[in-house]
Amino acid sequence: MAEAKLIDGRAIAARLCDRVGEGVGALAAGGHARPGLATVLMDGDPASQVYVRSKAKMAAELGMVSFDHRLSAETGEAELFGLIERLNGDTSVHGILVQLPLPRHIDTSRVVTAIDPAKDVDGFHPLNVGRLGSLAPGAPLDFSVPCTPLGVSKLLDQVLGPLSGRHAVVVGRSNLVGRPVAQLLLRADCTVSIGHSRTRDLPALCRLADILVVAIGKPELVRGDWIKPGAAVLDVGINRVAAGDGRHRLVGDVAFDEARGVAGHLTPVPGGVGPMTVACLMYNTLQAARRAASLPFLAI
Ligand code: NAP
Repeated sequence: MAEAKLIDGRAIAARLCDRVGEGVGALAAGGHARPGLATVLMDGDPASQVYVRSKAKMAAELGMVSFDHRLSAETGEAELFGLIERLNGDTSVHGILVQLPLPRHIDTSRVVTAIDPAKDVDGFHPLNVGRLGSLAPGAPLDFSVPCTPLGVSKLLDQVLGPLSGRHAVVVGRSNLVGRPVAQLLLRADCTVSIGHSRTRDLPALCRLADILVVAIGKPELVRGDWIKPGAAVLDVGINRVAAGDGRHRLVGDVAFDEARGVAGHLTPVPGGVGPMTVACLMYNTLQAARRAASLPFLAI
């Protein structure tokens, strides 16, 4: 059997960013405010610093205005909530991103709920979660949807076209990835099964999948013989594993070399789903700015 076609997430994300950049230019040319993205980072987690820097840099590259707020790890809840309230009321800010995880003394769910749902470009606010959960098949996504799941669904649209009737198996049921991916696939008229740590015979479930999305955080757990020949496999996992000599490398949740000989389409790690996350954050910020300007949803 031929090798799987690799899904080039970097190229697809770059094209999406180009279209977002054009959308930003069109807003400005129409006399509207440029989209403003506020990032809030509480010091502590080095990986978070890298993520936030790359988000702010991308926003600036696409012509958006980026507002970066760095708080010390000891900042109290009152100060953080005060900042969120100010950002909610600031008309030059269209998207607010509070980088997770937060330090232990902060109640994350209260923080997520404090963000104005119209500016919740991460799509984590309960109102937006509820909108996604109660979406009719094919209904417009005229609110923010979590960025990584949106990226998965955009990759599938690009590579497979209409998904109606296909059996999608999503492995992982987190609020961040698995559940919203399943909701988006239901919206696309897939038949959706969700696997998790208590699923009996996960390999047999995976073998039923025309589309297999894996988001579990377990290096290379999904083996080649779990995959139906020709299936589209999207590997969301990012795992740092020892590569000898004290060095590390990144691997996904799917055994890439095995999957490559069986799948029809496959995302590499890195360079598959990952780049879509930041691109979709930019997309959500542009759409939020358009809604704030009473402009219609832009299909890009
Ligand atoms: P999470 O919150 O830890 O959830 C993991 C899910 O996987 C849970 O539903 C868990 O089941 C399930 N699971 C764990 N072990 C399993 C097993 N042996 N068999 C079957 N299911 C199992 O993780 P997450 O936030 O969804 O992230 C998942 C992965 O995606 C991580 O590697 C993360 O780094 C990566 N990620 C990547 C991006 C990106 O931009 N590419 C973004 C977000 C996350 P239970 O519910 O039963 O415990």
